Amino acid sequence: MRKVDMLRGTFFIACAALTSCATPWHGPKTVQNASGQTVCARHQTPLKTEVAYVKLWQCRLEAEHYARIRERFPNPMPAFFHTERSRDYPDRITVTYCELCAHDYEVAAAD
Ligand SMILES: [Zn+2]
Repeated sequence: MRKVDMLRGTFFIACAALTSCATPWHGPKTVQNASGQTVCARHQTPLKTEVAYVKLWQCRLEAEHYARIRERFPNPMPAFFHTERSRDYPDRITVTYCELCAHDYEVAAAD
C-alpha cells in the first residue's frame, strides 16, 4: 500500500469517527437485556431513577449547542434539573437517565 493511500485511509477514518460522534441518536432509547431488564440502548447499562429538582411552571429553552450535544445520547440527564434543591430549583421530581450517557454528555459539553 502506498503511503498516500494509507494517509487517505487514516484521514477517512478520522473524519468518520468525528462524524459519528456528532450524529444524533436515532435508535431506540432503551432495550431489554437477556434477563429482561430495561437498559440504555447505547451503553447496555441499567437506567437510574433518582430525585432531582426543577422550577416547575417555568419555560426554559436550552441553548442549541447543548441541545445538539444532548441529542447524541439516548438517556442523558434531562436539561434544567439539578440533584440538589436550591432557590432556583425548588420543586422535587424524579428523573430517569443513564449514568454513562450523563457522563458522556458532560464530557462533550465541556469541550
Ligand atoms: Zn447510556
